[in-house]
Amino acid sequence: MELQKKLEILADAAKYDASCASSGASRKNSATGKGIGSTGGAGICHSYAPDGRCISLLKVLLTNRCLYDCHYCINRRSSNVQRAAFTSEEVVKLTLDFYKRNYIEGLFLSSGIIRSADYTMEMVIEVARALREDHDFRGYIHLKTIPEASVELIEKAGQFSDRISINIELPDEDSLKTFAPEKSLKRTRIAMGKIRHRVANAQEVRRETRNRKAPESRFATGQSTQIIVGADGSTDQTFLKRSTDLYSNYRLRRVYYSAFSPIPEPSSILPLKPPPLIREHRLYQADWLMRFYGFKAAEIVSDALPNLDLDLDPKLSWAIRNRQLFPVDLNRAEKYMLYRVPGLGVRNADRILGIRRYGKIRIQDLLRLRVSLKKALPFIITADHTPNTRELDHENLRAKFSPPPEQLELALTPSDQGSPLGKVID
Ligand code: SF4
Repeated sequence: MELQKKLEILADAAKYDASCASSGASRKNSATGKGIGSTGGAGICHSYAPDGRCISLLKVLLTNRCLYDCHYCINRRSSNVQRAAFTSEEVVKLTLDFYKRNYIEGLFLSSGIIRSADYTMEMVIEVARALREDHDFRGYIHLKTIPEASVELIEKAGQFSDRISINIELPDEDSLKTFAPEKSLKRTRIAMGKIRHRVANAQEVRRETRNRKAPESRFATGQSTQIIVGADGSTDQTFLKRSTDLYSNYRLRRVYYSAFSPIPEPSSILPLKPPPLIREHRLYQADWLMRFYGFKAAEIVSDALPNLDLDLDPKLSWAIRNRQLFPVDLNRAEKYMLYRVPGLGVRNADRILGIRRYGKIRIQDLLRLRVSLKKALPFIITADHTPNTRELDHENLRAKFSPPPEQLELALTPSDQGSPLGKVID
């Protein structure tokens, strides 16, 4: 098979993996030679570094053959897709060629499992090793690791990469049993624990020796994972509890939430429809609140409200449910409470703390900081603004922020063709 064809198949097979934070933006296809600018067919995606920088990565699988049969995955054993496999040399060559042409700044490499976890990991590691040792490649490398692989191989993967990840895929053991019977949450957690220990060890050596080249300090700077949303019946409470566990016990850099997208020839146990994309977005917002705003999962979701409000962002939704804590006086409130004001981001809350050392906060200051006044005003007091408490107590406060109701879509299904009514879908 030609390299170009393999690239098309294996880049397409990798696009379902969200754990390198692909921007997900779809571009027009220029693979036919018409037009310029499309990178999709060549497997180039955009990812965001921890400092917010956007980087382009070659995102491919080493092979889309797989021994496992995870129901949600297009590459599962029973899937009827065209299969392909790169050799390690081919991935090295593609990475270097794209890098030298300035198309990419790094590589994201994953793989289906062939022969055994160790065999697959060895092939993945060989790509990274050859890039680093034979070609002195200084670009970014993100390797997907397999929990069942031996500790020595995970250690090696970490030595040659900047980031390693293991996809947890589903939030609990029961869902994994149903949808990915060969996978085990327990094994994934053990592997994540080992990576966490090794990352911390490398950081300590770097700190103590101030020598980034010391062998013990050579290890990926962090790990991340992906959870699929909407394939099983898990609630947002289950997802956020699992994320809390992963951030606190395994020090993950990121948990990526990937809305399940229907795949060609899906397994019969998968839902027919994908979840609304806004659910993925709300989960990211809730995740952000937990990581940067000091919220606990139990404040955002509960047994009584196990799913996030799709109409409102989680902070606004929390504020409406806890309106007895508002209005907050921006000239007196403590930092943790400023972080909880709807419309006020961490950066602006910190700026307000700085401004109020020299004078009173007024609406004009908030306008200069570009605070979303529509969201913030009912919840704050400034030197020149006191909200109408009746508005804050009003039972329709939520409705004030909810998007206007939309007309239901009318769509024709094949069986409805010819019917003047069609079928109403939500
Ligand atoms: S192990 Fe990975 S590649 Fe294989 S079927 Fe499961 S999710 Fe897909």
